[in-house]
Amino acid sequence: MISFDLDLLHKLAREEGSASRRTFLAYASALSSLPVLARQAQGGTGTRTLSFSKDPFSLGVASGDPTSSGVVLWTRLAPDPLVPGGGLPPTAIDVSWEVAEDEAMAKVVRRGQAVAPPQLAHSVHVEVEGLEPDRWYWYRFRAGDAESRKGRTRTLPRPADQPDQLRFAFASCQHYETGLYTAYDHMVKQELDLIFHLGDYIYEGGKKPGNVREHPEAETESLEDYRTRYALYKSDPMLQAAHTHCPWFVTWDDHEVANNYAGSVASNKKVDALSLLARRANAYQAYYESMPLRGRSVPTGPDMRLYRKASFGRLAEFLVLDTRQYRSDQVNNEKPGPLTDEAFDPNRTMLGLRQKGWMESSLLRSNATWNVLAQQVMMAMVNRRFDKGEFYSMDQWPGYAAERRNLVKFLEERRVPNPVILTGDIHSHWANEVRVDDRKTDTPIVATEFVGTSISSGGKPKNTGSHSELLAHNPCVRFHSIERGYVQCTVSPKAWQSRFIEVEDVTRPGSAVETRASFVVEAGRPGLQQA
Ligand code: FE
Ligand code: CA
Repeated sequence: MISFDLDLLHKLAREEGSASRRTFLAYASALSSLPVLARQAQGGTGTRTLSFSKDPFSLGVASGDPTSSGVVLWTRLAPDPLVPGGGLPPTAIDVSWEVAEDEAMAKVVRRGQAVAPPQLAHSVHVEVEGLEPDRWYWYRFRAGDAESRKGRTRTLPRPADQPDQLRFAFASCQHYETGLYTAYDHMVKQELDLIFHLGDYIYEGGKKPGNVREHPEAETESLEDYRTRYALYKSDPMLQAAHTHCPWFVTWDDHEVANNYAGSVASNKKVDALSLLARRANAYQAYYESMPLRGRSVPTGPDMRLYRKASFGRLAEFLVLDTRQYRSDQVNNEKPGPLTDEAFDPNRTMLGLRQKGWMESSLLRSNATWNVLAQQVMMAMVNRRFDKGEFYSMDQWPGYAAERRNLVKFLEERRVPNPVILTGDIHSHWANEVRVDDRKTDTPIVATEFVGTSISSGGKPKNTGSHSELLAHNPCVRFHSIERGYVQCTVSPKAWQSRFIEVEDVTRPGSAVETRASFVVEAGRPGLQQA
C-alpha cells in the first residue's frame, strides 16, 4: 500500500484551473499530444512530497533508441506492479530525472521533470538531448521520496565517424513460464554497447501447469491484462539488470499481441478483424508504456509506428523492422508446404508498401559498411521436413516469396554493402547464407542471416539430436542448434563476428553458459566462415 495522501491527489485532479487538472484533461482528450506534454512538467502533484511505503520503481529503469546526441530514458511507477493501476491512484505524478557523466552521479550534465500520466500506466519516456556523441552516461529517476536504481546508457558515434568496433547482443522469445533469464545474467557480464530485442518480449497465454514459473490464469485481452503481463515479466531481476546495462532497440513479433497474427487477421479464424484490432490496440499501448521508445511510437488506436533506423557511425546501419503489423495473412492456414503460386502472389506483403519503400530508400542512402535488418522471421528458405517433400514455413519469409525474392534481388542489384539479417522467433540458433533463391546454390550469396535462439521459450530441449541431415538438405544453413541463449556480435570495418551463446538448462538457476559456435563474415566477401 502507498501512504501518501490520496484525497489530496484526487483534490488536485479535481481543482478547476489547477495545473494537474489541466494535465489530466489534456491527457484524456489528446492522447497523441502526450509525448509533447510529458517532456516537461505540466503540473502533476506539484512540489508536495509524496511518500511511498513500497518502491514505485519496482519495474526498474531502461534506456533505448540512442542517437549521437541523445537517448530515451524509461521507467514506470508501480508500487504494486501486479494489481490493476500498479497500486497508484489515477492521477499524474511528477518524476524528476538526471543524467551524469559518472557512475557516482557527481557530474550531472542534464536534469529535468517529467509527468507519469495514469493514461499511460504512469510510464515515463524522457527524450534526453544535448549529450556528447559516443560516450557512456548514467541516469536515475526520483518520485516523491523514492529514488530509482541507476541505469547505464550511451550515445552513438556521430553519423560521419568510423568507429573501430561495435559490440552488441540480440535476444528474443522470453517465455516467463518455461525458463529463467540466465542468458541476461550472462549478457550483463559482457562488454556491450547495445542490446537488440527482436520480439516475443511477453507471451499472451494463460497459465500452463508443469513449468518453472506461472502466468496469470487468463490469456491477455484487455489493456490491464497486457500491462500486468509486462509488469510480471519486468519484475525479473535479470531482465531489469540487462535493461540497465546499456541502451536497447526493441521490436515486436507476434506474441506481444497474439500467436501468429497477421495485420488485422487473427490466427484463430473465428476471431473477426474488429476484435483482433481492439486487442491489438490494447497490446500496442501496453508495449509502448513498457518500452524505452520515442514519442513517434505513441500508438493511435491499433496503429503504432515501430520501424525505425539507427547508425553506429559509418560502421553499421540498423533498420529495425516490423514484420507483423502490416503483413498479409499467411497462405495455406500457416501450414508449412511447397512454395506455391499463392506464396509467390506479388500482391502479398510482409512489410507493407510504406515500410518497404522506407527500407529501400534507407538502404540506397546508407553509407555504412554493414547494413543490418533487425527483424523477426527467418529469411533463409529452409525445408524443415526434407524427408516428406517441400515443407517451407508460411509464417516466415518463404511464405511471402515474392517480396522476399524482390528484397534479396534489391540487395544484390543495388549492391547494398554487406547486408546482415538478424532474426528471432523460432527458438533456435541458425547461421544462414542467403541467396535470391536459396535452392540454387550455384548463384551468388547475397546476405548473411543470424537467427538467435530464445532466451527461455521452449525450456530445456528434450532431444537435441543431430542436425547433419538438415544441413545436408539445406545448403544455405551452416549452423543450427535448438538450445536456449542469445547471440553476441563484434563488428569492425573489416569483419563481423557472431557468437552463438547457449545456456545449459534454463529450468535451473545458475546454469552454465557457453559459446556453442562462432562465425565470421569478412567485409566485401559474402559468406560464413567458421571462427
Ligand atoms: Fe517466440
Ligand atoms: Ca514468434
